[in-house]
Amino acid sequence: MLRINDKETELCGGEPATTNNRMELLAVIEALQSLAQPVEARVYTDSQYVQKGISEWIHSWKQRGWKTAGKDSVKNEDLWRRLDALAGKHTLEWHWVRGHNGHPENERADALARAGLEQARRTGRSVDGPVHDPFKGSSNSADSPPILDIEHATVYRGDTCVFSDFSFALRAGEHAAILGPNGAGKSTLLKLLSSEVHAMPKDETRMVLFGEERWNVWDVRKRIGIVSHDLHRDYLICAEGLNVILSGFYASNDTYEYQEFSKTQMTKAYEVMQELGIVALSGRRFGHLSTGEQRRFLLGRALVHDPPVLVLDEPTSGLDLKACFQYLDLLRAQMKGKTVLLVTHHLHEIPPEVDRVIFLKEGKILADGFKQTLLTSDQLSWLLDSKITLLQANGWYQALPG
Ligand code: ADP
Repeated sequence: MLRINDKETELCGGEPATTNNRMELLAVIEALQSLAQPVEARVYTDSQYVQKGISEWIHSWKQRGWKTAGKDSVKNEDLWRRLDALAGKHTLEWHWVRGHNGHPENERADALARAGLEQARRTGRSVDGPVHDPFKGSSNSADSPPILDIEHATVYRGDTCVFSDFSFALRAGEHAAILGPNGAGKSTLLKLLSSEVHAMPKDETRMVLFGEERWNVWDVRKRIGIVSHDLHRDYLICAEGLNVILSGFYASNDTYEYQEFSKTQMTKAYEVMQELGIVALSGRRFGHLSTGEQRRFLLGRALVHDPPVLVLDEPTSGLDLKACFQYLDLLRAQMKGKTVLLVTHHLHEIPPEVDRVIFLKEGKILADGFKQTLLTSDQLSWLLDSKITLLQANGWYQALPG
């Protein structure tokens, strides 16, 4: 429960397999995360673990590199780090109240916790959400249904189990970035979305795309425009510029004689090239274009269907600074009104419009939340297992060693 002056907000949520301590921590994390701007506030909890942890124990845990006095790893380190980062943005006083003791707001919080548990039991998965949330800041997509929803997926590449019980959802209108080191599973996730790899058929596994549990691959490919690293690497160098754009209509890597293109499709291809500033290059072979020009053609190929979702894989890798900035400008123009998922390990290519960040490592989501909360030197050093200093300017980020 959040109260600001006379306005109240109630949030609740639940997870099917969790612990009391994790839910006590998550309750405060979700509440703080829902605030659009820094506040001065009193936080009341009936959890001594949370109250003492955040106001006393955490200082020595941090000094010891997230170890307890007995040199064990701190339990729930992921959540403590999130809470620590969030708490640092606000001025908070932490108070403990005895639970089940007639405290009116505590009784209310108890009822909300039971409602969250009930929701989680009914859906069999993690749920969180506002019961009524007038304070929520930037997230204009918070109430929209998931456009991509993967639940409990197990995915193998050869003998390697990349994802085990993996769940991830993206809501319509969201601009999210998945960050993770090499081998995290980023490319595999893209291939899962483009139906190039598949989850194992298990009872609990669901993949709902655009609200449909059964979908046609070709239809989905029209609705998700993907510019991936693998596509760039494998695209045929002999294809001419115009054909690269047209190949988007068939999701192929050149155009072929049996493919037919209508007048409307040709007009669309020229419109897209116009928008991306590449009409003059329409007759040039893909292999004779610069990397930046090739990337623009592949973006055009993804845009021919006006897809509501754009998925971009390390969009500026291999581009020089000028080409990188030009390409990011083009992308930002395309992001308006679209759902965008950016997959990368380069911070500099996360546009200011992205407001959700997901940390992926070894096939697991370690953290998922607001960009301002997760993109800190401390959090990133933890994700990448290396000391990193993060710089931020005008909504852009850059990482430095040390
Ligand atoms: P990222 O894109 O984050 O670097 P990937 O999705 O490419 O990660 O890889 C995730 C894991 O899957 C890695 O351990 C990688 O070695 C393994 N992997 C990827 N492709 C294959 C493949 N074709 N066969 C076997 N293992 C693979």
